[in-house]
Formats: sequence, C-alpha cells, structure tokens
Amino acid sequence: MSGLAVAPRGSTCSRARLDVDLDAVAHNTRLLAGRAGGELMAVVKADGFGHGAVDVARTALANGATRLGVTTLDEAWLLRDAGLAVPLLSWLNPADADFATAAVRDVDVAVPSLLHLAAVAATPGRSRIHLHLDTGMARDGADPASWAALCRAARRAEQQGQVEVVGVMGHLGCADQPADECNALGRTRFAWALETARSVGLRPRDRHLAATAATLTDPRSHHTMSRVGAGLVGIDPSRSTRLQPAMTLTAPILQVRRVRGGTPVGYGHTHRTAAATHLGLVPLGYADGLPRLASGHAEVQVRGVRRPVVGRISMDQLVVDLGSRGVDAGETVTLFGPGAYGEPTVAEWASWAETIEHEVVTGIGARVERHPRSTSHLRSLS
Ligand SMILES: *Cc1c(COP(=O)(O)O)cnc(C)c1O
Repeated sequence: MSGLAVAPRGSTCSRARLDVDLDAVAHNTRLLAGRAGGELMAVVKADGFGHGAVDVARTALANGATRLGVTTLDEAWLLRDAGLAVPLLSWLNPADADFATAAVRDVDVAVPSLLHLAAVAATPGRSRIHLHLDTGMARDGADPASWAALCRAARRAEQQGQVEVVGVMGHLGCADQPADECNALGRTRFAWALETARSVGLRPRDRHLAATAATLTDPRSHHTMSRVGAGLVGIDPSRSTRLQPAMTLTAPILQVRRVRGGTPVGYGHTHRTAAATHLGLVPLGYADGLPRLASGHAEVQVRGVRRPVVGRISMDQLVVDLGSRGVDAGETVTLFGPGAYGEPTVAEWASWAETIEHEVVTGIGARVERHPRSTSHLRSLS
C-alpha cells in the first residue's frame, strides 16, 4: 500500500503564513506618486486589499501619499485608532451611518444623495463632505439626474454652516481598458459635474476621478488627486506598468504519501495519478482564499520546482503531486509570491480561477498568519 510520512510536531515550518513586503508597497507608492498629477490618496479598504490596512497606510504615507481613503466608517475608525491623523475619506455608507462621530474624528464622508446630505447636515458641527457622482457605472454615487439638485442642497447646507463641500468625486468603469470610449464619457460627465457644482457657488478643492489604472494611463483624469488602492500592493489593472507584488503565501507539507498509478485524489475523484508518485498534503484551501475554481490548473513551488495541485481544492487542504522522488514532510510550499524565483504569482492564480488579482489578495482567510516586513522598518528599529 501507500507509504506515509507525517510532519514532525513543532517543525519550524508548521503553519501557513502570508508575508507582506512593505518595501514593495513603498516602491509602488513612490512610482504612483510620481505619475499622479495631483495628490495621492492611499485607498486601504478591505484591510488594505488583504495586506493590512494600517501597515499599508503607514508605508504609503511615508512614501508620497498624503491622504487615506476607505469604504466604510468602521474602516476609518481603525485607522484613527492606530493614530493615523492625516485627511481621511470614507465613501460608501448607509444614510443612517454614524456621521456625527465622523465629524468628531475628522473623517470626510462622500455624499451620494439628498438623504445622505440631510443626515450629515443634521449632525452637530460642520462636516466635511465630498459630493459623489456616478460617472457611468450605475453603481455608487449620485444618479446624474439628481446631481444638480444635490449640488444646490449642498450649497444651502454649506451657507447654513452645516457642511463644507471640500470635494467632488467620480469613478471610471473601464479605466483598465484605456482605449475604451467609456473613459472619455466618464471624464466628460465629471467635468460637467464640476461645472454644475461651480455654477451653484460650490468651490470644492479636491476633485478626484482616477484610481490606479487611470493614474497610470490617463493624465486627463487626474484633476487634483488620485485614489489608488490596487497599485499600492502591486496590481495594475491596466497592465501598462511593472509594479511589485507584495504578498508571498507559503505553507508546510504536512504529509507525503507514496501512491500507485491510477490513485484517485480528492472529492469527486476528478484526478487520478498517471503513474506511481508522491502526493503532498498542504493545509490551505478555499476557506483560506485559494479559489476552488483553480482546481485542475493551479501549480505551487517546492524546492524551486513547480508542481501541480491535483484533484479538487478542498475547504482546508489541497494535494500536490510531488513526482516520483518526493520531498520530506515539513518542507515549505510556495503557493504564490512576486514571481522572481519562478514561483507562481497572484496573477497566475487569478487566471487559473478566471478572476482578477484583487479577488485573490482580498480573499486570504483569517487562519493564515500575516507577517509584514520592511527593511526600512528594521533600519529604523536599530
Ligand atoms: C476601490 C476604489 C478605488 C481604488 O481603486 P484601485 O483601482 O484599486 O486603485 C478608488 N475609488 C473608489 C471609489 C473605489 O471604490
């Protein structure tokens, strides 16, 4: 039957770990700050795209970003709790969100509707707001049909001392395809939105439309600020610029099993070994963010060599075909990394799973230990 070797207890490589390279984030931030025509807002929503919101925020602010952006107010509190005192914008909240605390904690909020405006205006103090137009995605932001009324109401609230309209924002739906005419349409809508705001007496200092892709490819969209998230962590949706991926995911091989040719592997027996081989068990699955759709396509790196993931990826584990010579249990498997040593990349996982890199990096589960590292941080400690 099959030979079985079990990883020794307490082995130094006993757990899955996610290393986050903050030097890569620093590099990417400097590159993006150099491309942006205006200020750079570091978007650290979804826990900094899975890289650690506070770590990414601190690194970005030390390398050219001047502001922070998040989706929800809860994400904003985390940054304030960490002592980050720079301008901070939160743009996707229900109308009954805690706008009073936002004002107290100096968090700017996006206003996409009259309902939101009324809620923000009703809080004590003078809230700083960014009017948010949907520039062509039928998603968040105000319907263009309601924009003029929203601008007029915001101007009245400003005159009554309830709000200060510091910004106008939009978002491009096709910036990853720079030639798509949707981008020109979005820019035109945004220009119209600014003109409409001006015509009722608003003077927003912060006018922002571009995210990562448009910051890298479309200077006409830059206005006074770029809001970049993906690019900070090495993802360029426009594929125009070489950025540095920041995540490396590794795990131990828990068991190595010698099996005969024809051995079925995993749920549904979707794979049978072609010949006698060694199978390695890796304690990571789709609950840890490795997409099940990548089953049958994915590869990992073991001892510098690519090996196929075989059978279906399970919730908590996957199986690697290690070949006829096998390796020892306890050896480290690299699921993905920057790719510099031939290991798979997040971009490859995304293509194996027919998705985008964003979904892979934001999906890494809570069971995986995160280890931020930065040589500049080490230098400042010594
Ligand atoms: C996520 C997001 C961004 C950042 O986009 P990237 O492509 O990740 O740079 C900017 N603006 C808004 C409104 C967003 O939701």
